[in-house]
Amino acid sequence: VHTRSSAIVTVGSELVEGLRIDTNTAEIARALAPRGLHVAEAVSVGDDVSVLATVLARLAASYDLVITTGGLGPTHDDITRDAASKALGLQLVPDPELVAKLTSVAHLHKHPEAAEQVLRQALVLEGARWIDATIGTAPGLVIETARGVVALLPGPPSEMSPMLHDLLRRYPLVRALPHELGVVGLSESDAQVLVQRALGRYPSVGFTVLAHPGDVRVLLFDEGCGERTLAAAARSAAAALDDRVYTTVGSTLPQSVIASAAKQGLTIAVAESCTGGMVAAALTDVPGSSAVFKGGVVAYADDVKTAQLGVESETLAMHGAVSEQTAAEMAQGVRDRLGVDVAVSVTGIAGPDGGTPDKPVGMVCFGVASPSGVTALTRHFPATSRDATRARATATALDLIRLEVSGAKG
Ligand code: ATP
Repeated sequence: VHTRSSAIVTVGSELVEGLRIDTNTAEIARALAPRGLHVAEAVSVGDDVSVLATVLARLAASYDLVITTGGLGPTHDDITRDAASKALGLQLVPDPELVAKLTSVAHLHKHPEAAEQVLRQALVLEGARWIDATIGTAPGLVIETARGVVALLPGPPSEMSPMLHDLLRRYPLVRALPHELGVVGLSESDAQVLVQRALGRYPSVGFTVLAHPGDVRVLLFDEGCGERTLAAAARSAAAALDDRVYTTVGSTLPQSVIASAAKQGLTIAVAESCTGGMVAAALTDVPGSSAVFKGGVVAYADDVKTAQLGVESETLAMHGAVSEQTAAEMAQGVRDRLGVDVAVSVTGIAGPDGGTPDKPVGMVCFGVASPSGVTALTRHFPATSRDATRARATATALDLIRLEVSGAKG
């Protein structure tokens, strides 16, 4: 496979000063790799014309493709056009078609100076092709140089993405697109060991494991094996991970839960204490969730658990709010009251305070109520942070719904 080299430059003081996270580099790099465009460098530069011009001159002379994002808009800190003009020794000239287009939107601005600034975006490097903006007003610019191609794209990811795909039509795929497995309830290291073993027979398949609390993603790459072998390797990895895999097609965990409940024709409800509605929020994030998700109760205080979910005061007094007994009654209570097939409950100690030797921070109890009865279980998550514990508890609750609805008699 012929490999060409590329570089990515993200422009913006907000990026180098840590006020915004650069997500464009990752998106662009993922799109370049399967096209045989090895990314050799990724650089972030603040809003400084001379620094950017120096960087661009060096990269444009070294790589087959250089992509910049940001600094293309109409404001004073939008310097990419000027820097590229300096670096490549090309004049900026107004493009008549762009002038006409931008003039038609310029009057939308209140201040005459702002209207004038908008027209700066009609300046094009001589000989450049421009890519139309589908959302904002800033067009992207593509310049053919002696060495390769330099493409200037806008900063906002929603404007950058469609232009990137337009640009990349000229670079055909030379490798299969990565396969992605979603894994829940397994540590990053466990997932890594299982996948590594499963991939022993596939030397030209690469993989990486990306972990978030409660959610692990395994990405498999074509390193010269082709799509058929990559797909076979993905099946082997999925088999090794067994029922810990919730998707092989890049869905999120809530999407997988909603899809399997819909397939089985089952309805869902949740009763949440320490996750405070995070499970319900995750489920309702999914378009079409109304077909299966009926609702939830956030029962944080004991008296709400009693009054709204029917948890017995004796249960709370004897076993405590964080106990399998309470979790079981919460799940049963919300299942009865909302009249659903499957209900899940969460009650735990998210921390940082409130832990005891018996019930340490990170201990979370879950209940599952379904037509086949009520069960409860306890998990001890690493007490790293309140956020991480709540994220892990949310993922576990979603996983319990997933296992219940997919194992359902259907
Ligand atoms: P605009 O026409 O919106 O001015 P622009 O090309 O000038 O586009 P910038 O002004 O550099 O873009 O960035 C606009 C916003 O886009 C930033 O405030 C930031 O929120 C987002 N953004 C820019 N670069 C990146 C990046 N590399 N990753 C993620 N978001 C980014």
